[in-house]
Amino acid sequence: MNLVKKIVVGLALYAVCLKGFAATVLAYHHVSSETPPSTSVSVENFKKHLELIEELGLQVVPITTITDAIKAGKPVEHNWIAITFDDGYSSVYDTAWPLLKEKNYPFSVYINPAMVKPSKLYMDWQQLEELSDQGVIIANHTMKHENLVQDGLTLEQITDTILEAEEIIKQRLNQNHKIFVYPFGEYNEQIEQILSKHGFVGLAQHSGAINETSNITALLRFPANGIYANPKTLKNKINSLPFDLASVLPVDTKPDSLHPQLTVKLNSKDFYQSQLACFISGSSKPQKPEWRSKLEFTISAEHEIPKGRVKYNCTAPSIKHSGRFYWMSKLWINP
Ligand SMILES: [Zn+2]
Repeated sequence: MNLVKKIVVGLALYAVCLKGFAATVLAYHHVSSETPPSTSVSVENFKKHLELIEELGLQVVPITTITDAIKAGKPVEHNWIAITFDDGYSSVYDTAWPLLKEKNYPFSVYINPAMVKPSKLYMDWQQLEELSDQGVIIANHTMKHENLVQDGLTLEQITDTILEAEEIIKQRLNQNHKIFVYPFGEYNEQIEQILSKHGFVGLAQHSGAINETSNITALLRFPANGIYANPKTLKNKINSLPFDLASVLPVDTKPDSLHPQLTVKLNSKDFYQSQLACFISGSSKPQKPEWRSKLEFTISAEHEIPKGRVKYNCTAPSIKHSGRFYWMSKLWINP
């Protein structure tokens, strides 16, 4: 890119930032009060979420609107929100779909083809076909919901479960989006490379707003079930803004110590340094990051991180957009 073009693109991106555009993605599983609480949202709360989206004037778009823009490097031009459902549960067909249809909101479902069968819990192929015929996006969540990081699969087996699921979805439903949701939200750098190599987009399960500079093989989503279903706390999340990130290091999810250090470099910032706070899984009070320069901070867990999925969530209130927060998170998987 020559200098003039760089300046033009830079100014365009800066103008977009000033307008406070962002994309967010909600991650659901069941919409029911009879399924496991940690992966469910009640019908009542789900309805409140949809009302909240309307109230905030967000534009509900198919996930492909967001992923296509990011792939093309085009700015996120509105306050977009996408609604996603993992695992292909029956309550999506029975309960969520009618409510979403009423509002004309698009959504997407991520399935494990080996688990699609007539059952009380999961949708069968006939129901999925019906959704598909009505324009619902059905995409990939592996064949059998394997944990790609902790189940001891080889890279070849990981590639196979992703490609096989994609092929079956294509044959059964004629859909082939190459959009992949990591089971349990777990991935590492090598798995991201498999996705890149085969032209897939990856959706994660840790929270934050996204824009055209977001990592396309691990796009952030806000879980909206279980303890995260409370409409009051969800409001700040779906109205959140993406940090103007230059880099987030390390890229991998494997911590190199029990106090792993995250280093974030920003291109610009629209918040007061002193107001940036990070929340670390396993610790109830926020931690202040350490500023290395005006646009670079680091954060390491004060206490040893717990086992399993650990998140560093960092937020800061916007100066220009009153009432809105910048929001990002970093995932570690502590084996
Ligand atoms: Zn899942």
